[in-house]
Amino acid sequence: MATLDENLDKAGRYMARWADGCLNHIAGQSVPAASGRMFETRSPVDLAPLAQVAEGDAADIDRAAQAARDAFPEWRAMPGAKRRDLLHAIADAIVARAEEIALTECLDTGQALRFMSKAALRGADNFRFYADKAPEARDGQSLYGPNQINMTSRTPIGPVGIITPWNTPFMLSTWKIAPALAAGCTVVHKPAELSPLTARLLVEIAEEAGLPPGVWNTVNGFGETAGKALCEHPAIKAIAFIGESRTGQAIMAQGASTLKRVHLELGGKNPVVVFDDADLDRAADAAVFMIYSLNGERCTSSSRLLVQDTIYDAFTARVAEKAANIRVGHPLDPETVIGPLIAPEHRAKVLSYFDTAHAEGATIATGGEAWGDTGCWVKPTLFTGATNDMAIAQEEIFGPVLTAIPFADEADALRMANDVGYGLAGYLWTSDVTRALRFSDAMEAGMIWVNSENLRHLPTPFGGMKSSGIGRDGGDWSFDFYMETRNVAFSTTAHRIPKLGG
Ligand code: NAD
Repeated sequence: MATLDENLDKAGRYMARWADGCLNHIAGQSVPAASGRMFETRSPVDLAPLAQVAEGDAADIDRAAQAARDAFPEWRAMPGAKRRDLLHAIADAIVARAEEIALTECLDTGQALRFMSKAALRGADNFRFYADKAPEARDGQSLYGPNQINMTSRTPIGPVGIITPWNTPFMLSTWKIAPALAAGCTVVHKPAELSPLTARLLVEIAEEAGLPPGVWNTVNGFGETAGKALCEHPAIKAIAFIGESRTGQAIMAQGASTLKRVHLELGGKNPVVVFDDADLDRAADAAVFMIYSLNGERCTSSSRLLVQDTIYDAFTARVAEKAANIRVGHPLDPETVIGPLIAPEHRAKVLSYFDTAHAEGATIATGGEAWGDTGCWVKPTLFTGATNDMAIAQEEIFGPVLTAIPFADEADALRMANDVGYGLAGYLWTSDVTRALRFSDAMEAGMIWVNSENLRHLPTPFGGMKSSGIGRDGGDWSFDFYMETRNVAFSTTAHRIPKLGG
């Protein structure tokens, strides 16, 4: 395993390519913003500028949307098997540049290399999974009725807009874009302004692997300008969005006048419920992993720890001890688990919850302060003695911060698990199978893992309820979003047609 110094050296060489800036990519061309404006992306490690980024706005979105519209007829008509081969070629090209992607992602987001080295490979897996599904994307059913045979089929909806957030931006971009391309849609991608670099690498990799120009266009810029224009553009038929719940509301409103189809993957305040009959060693490891990996900047993080009162003190003491031992450091240090948060504003938001916890009367069992002299670190933190109505139990903090709440019995645990505005994920630890079935059936969450951390299986549905979103990704569910389903009814008999007017 390479040392921090070796990784810094390699990263420095990869970062040299950004000296000319991170431009937009439209119709196969690397282009500056129409306005000529640029903004800076900074490293959360030391706030040093990493690159100047093209600041796209409505004019650039319009160009990109037209390119996507022009490329659509040919891309839609391409046989699925050929699209499959192209998407596999993109996956191969991602793997070939996995080191560059990982090191760039670490510096742009602050995520630790031990997790990001796998994110590039997971991105390639997303392409491979949807590559193999491309030939079947248009398939439908035949449904027999009285006097008729119905044939359903699917057809790609058209050019789509994809808007992604700053947490694990490379992996999330592949997760959205691969199924859109496999379905036969063309794409305009608006990456997060705080972490634009790997999205630019991704479109470049795809075209070098043979993707035709215009099929995938990337426009950098801010949400309120470029993002809004994408939602409003009449050539764009659907918006797939990942981000905050409040932004999701804006996306729906902005898309309303063009009746945009929207898919929203939003925030979470996910419970991990631990009963006293669980395998407590495994439960503690999973709870710690799900909140402190990826800096806690993870939509499915287990940010509310509900523990049966019989084991609450011992279990939270164990979690606190593990949290205190977690290595905080430079994201390129192979030993680092927690790197700096994405930006100073986000760190300030996370730190503000330490004051909130004090004010609400919770106890800071470990952490509860910033780390380091420069950059955006906070220490892994555990709040104990909390109740479910506190802001630290209800609001998405999106950092390495866990709120632990005791419960008395199953009914109490279920009430608290569901008593929150979000409904993305839930985690349940018990050795009682009947209770696991009963409890998971009543939990208000789109995804529930029983006796496990978040282990993704790509054919399964991914998405949330309540304020956590609308729609599902994964498997065939992604095609339902990116495609229109059509039914053609053939008459099989000379059935009686109602006669009007003689
Ligand atoms: P954000 O909502 O601030 O920004 C996400 C994207 O939306 C960015 O590209 C931004 O520029 C754009 N945007 C902002 N305002 C816009 C507007 N008015 N119109 C169009 N686009 C606009 O989210 P973030 O802070 O970048 O990401 C963190 C959030 O994402 C957290 O809430 C997290 O839970 C959520 N998230 C959810 C999932 C999921 O699958 N449910 C996955 C990852 C992250």
